[in-house]
Order: sequence, then structure tokens, then C-alpha cells
Amino acid sequence: MISYAIPMTGNPEIQERSAARGAGQHQKTSLRRGRIFTKELCGMNTKKKCMLAVGLAFGMSLCAAVQPAPFVSSAAAHFMTSAEEHEIGRAAAERFEEKNDVAMDDDLITIQQRLIASNPEYLNWNDGVHKRWLEPMKMYHSDQPNAFMLPGGYGYMADSMVNFMDTYQNDGYLNKNRMRPLNKTNIYNTSAVAFVMAHEFGHWAGKDHLESYDKQYGLNIISNILGALGGSVSAMTARQIGINLVDTLWERKMSLSQEMGADEWGLQFLENVPEYSTGGALIKFDRFLRLEEIRYPDGKFPKNYRNPHPGTEKRFDRAMDYIRKTSNNRVMVLSSELYIDGQRIPVYGREDIVKRERVFYLAGQIAAAIKYDMFHERCVRFVPVAQSPVADDPDRHNEGYLVVVNDDRTMSKFLDKFRYDTSRSFEENMAVTMYANGDMETLGSIVDAMNLYDAKNHGK
Ligand SMILES: [Zn+2]
Repeated sequence: MISYAIPMTGNPEIQERSAARGAGQHQKTSLRRGRIFTKELCGMNTKKKCMLAVGLAFGMSLCAAVQPAPFVSSAAAHFMTSAEEHEIGRAAAERFEEKNDVAMDDDLITIQQRLIASNPEYLNWNDGVHKRWLEPMKMYHSDQPNAFMLPGGYGYMADSMVNFMDTYQNDGYLNKNRMRPLNKTNIYNTSAVAFVMAHEFGHWAGKDHLESYDKQYGLNIISNILGALGGSVSAMTARQIGINLVDTLWERKMSLSQEMGADEWGLQFLENVPEYSTGGALIKFDRFLRLEEIRYPDGKFPKNYRNPHPGTEKRFDRAMDYIRKTSNNRVMVLSSELYIDGQRIPVYGREDIVKRERVFYLAGQIAAAIKYDMFHERCVRFVPVAQSPVADDPDRHNEGYLVVVNDDRTMSKFLDKFRYDTSRSFEENMAVTMYANGDMETLGSIVDAMNLYDAKNHGK
């Protein structure tokens, strides 16, 4: 959680204009066009009541299996069961939604679908098979760019977080006049939002809240006593804990190791999605570094500054380290330049992505391709976005993805998106397709880097 709001763009003229526009289309809170928040939707209350009734039919059980979490050490076993977790989470979610403007967001659901589909061992919906599941992550209105999980798989992301990542410029300001929508071919900002979500799912997968809530609320004691009496946490108790949780949520602190663990989970989740880059983490942290510079130019945070996450710079460095290590030290980023095996790869900014962030995206994807032995010319395909099975857009004919596929065709990674119209000749593209010149230079240099390394190492 970050306790400060994102400033609007530094240009006062633009700021004024967007403020005026915001006032004109004031839909209570909707920062993003077309989104309807709960309080504007009277129909949702009935649905909510139905869900509550269904939820109350759930029996409580004290025999849920506790599986070890790979990244987060869980020396102290927790005693909260899946049913208790869900009960408490549902009460907390209801409390949160009473106090905030909350909306279902199709774009967030799409990202969640991609993360779950690509990480079936770790993430799941309520499929009737698993005892724990993720509820659809919802969006809430707040000027503070946060995201968080409640117990029971209830996740929330602030609209300002999404808007901050969707803003084209990366100077720490939010500029509503130049936003990129999520999903489709916008793989860069989507990777950044996906990282925020994946980090939160990391807390869920690592069962971090179970541990910390156990400690905070003494749930193990409660359920032990009730367990001894042959019962479980009553609906009343669960409700009380849930409400308490939301009312004191902003005071809660995850431990440092839980946060590091969640970042690590998040990076791994992204790595498994073909079109999401671990560079999304770099994009996110880099933007927050700019934001912190604006807010606290002397680098000193106020005494009451509450941020449960380890320093943004440290998190950026750790994500960069992850990318370097997964690439066997072959991928490096030095002052916004991409290097493969010590060779600089020319990368250019485009109307949909600034250079620095495109470098981050490429670095993450190339590192993953190396890790899974797909960084060879024989693995390369060029897929027009209109024909891509994911991150597609039937209306775009001048773009394609450079995709690598492993030899047994079980895995793929999108190295980047390039401007090139496959219905035209190369010469025509160079003459008429905007950005194709620079993009083909980048693409050529990447394939050269593959071949140079493989020639030296006999394709191993
Ligand atoms: Zn966290």
C-alpha cells in the first residue's frame, strides 16, 4: 500500500483541461470511460444477496490441507481453514464494498484469466475442485495507486493504479489525455498491470494473509478453542474478524519476506504467460520511483509514511536481478539500453511505448526465452496480431509479434511487437509502414544475437 496520490501531468494547461473534462463527464468516480461502479448499479444488490445466501450454505471444515509454499517460508503452521478463510474474506469484502465504489472490470478479468490459464498449478477459479480459489479481482476508486488481497481470494485494484500504468508517459504523472487501453496489442502496460495483479496473487498463493491474520487476530487460538468444542469459527465471529480486517486494513503490514516472496511469485506467474513480460515489474517499479521523486524529492519519507513493501528501488533491483539470472547473465539493461551477450540491441520508442519501457519488456521476454531454451532462430515465428491466438486485434494489419516456440511446442514467448504489414513487401513496408524501419532493425539484431551465440556454442 502506498499512502500518496499520483499527481496529474506537470503541464498545467493539460491538467486544467483534463480537470474540466473530468468535471463534465463526472460519473461519481469513474476515471475510466464506460465503467460503472457498484453504487451506481442498484441491480447488483440483489445479486449480492443471492451470493450471500449461497455462501451461508457452506459448511465449515477444519481439515484443509496445508501445502508448502515454494518462495515464502512458513515455519509456523497456520490453523485457519479454507472455509474459515473464505467466510472471513467474504465478510471483509462486503465491508470493503460498503465503504468504497467497487466495479467489475472486464480488462482486469481478462488479465486474471490469462494469469490463471497459464499457471494452473498455482492459481485457480472456483472450479468445484479446489478448496481455495481466486474471486474475480475488482476495481475500486481511489487516487492512491494500491492493490491488495483479502483472505478468501478477494482482490482489489485501485483505478488510479491502472490509469497510472496506462498513461503513455513514464515521468510519474498521470495524463488522461494519452492513455493506452489494457489488453489486445497493448502488451507493455498490460504486463505492468499484470505484475501488480500477479504480486497480489502471490500473497494468496503463499497464503501470506493466513499467516499474518493468524498472528494478528489469534485465529489459531480461536479455532483451537472452538475446534476442541467440536465447532468452528462461527459466522458471527467470521463476520466480526472480516469487518475488523477492513476497518484496520490500512494499518496492516505484511512482513518483508512476504513482500519479497510475493514479487518472486509475481515474476514467475508472468513468465508463464506468453505475452506478459517480467519486464512489467520493472515498468511498474520505475514509474513508482518517478512518483516518489515527485512526492519526496529529498528522498526522505515522512514519519507516518506507511508502505509495507520494501523500498521500490530494492524491488526494482531484485526484479532486474531475476531477469539477469534467468538469462544466464546474457541479458542486461544499462541506462535504458538493452544488451544481449554484451552487444547493444538498438531499440526505439514508438507511439504506443517509450523506449525505456520497451527495453524492459524485451529484457524480460528474452530472458525467459533463454531460460526455456527457445532463444534460437529455429524457434522464431512472426505472427500478425490479427492472427494471434492471444493479445490479438483483428483490426490491426500493420503489426505482428516475434514469437519463439520451444522445440516440443509446449511453450511460447512473445519477444516483442513489431510494425510490419505481412501483406506488403519488405520494401513497401520500409517505405510506408510507420516505425517499420526501426522495428526491423531491432528484430534483425535480436535474430543476429541468437545466431551469434549459437554459432559460438553449437546451438546449445
Ligand atoms: Zn504486497
